[in-house]
Amino acid sequence: MTCTEFLKILDDVIDESIAAETRVEIETHLKKCGHCEVVLNTTRKTIEIYRCHEIYELPVEVNERLHASIMERCRRVR
Ligand SMILES: [Zn+2]
Repeated sequence: MTCTEFLKILDDVIDESIAAETRVEIETHLKKCGHCEVVLNTTRKTIEIYRCHEIYELPVEVNERLHASIMERCRRVR
């Protein structure tokens, strides 16, 4: 798995809607790649923090795609 592949399925990783074999690939990748590990942890935390609040601004380091996905998730939860 590459970083790009990981980022593409990041939503599913957070939702844990991934196949067991994909999960193994992800864990293998995260052991080698601190960057993706940080992205995953940061995104998880960001979603937790913002989940039930009105959000208009997210930290600038959250990219647009993630921002959109987090906003979408919050709308679904409400
Ligand atoms: Zn990576």
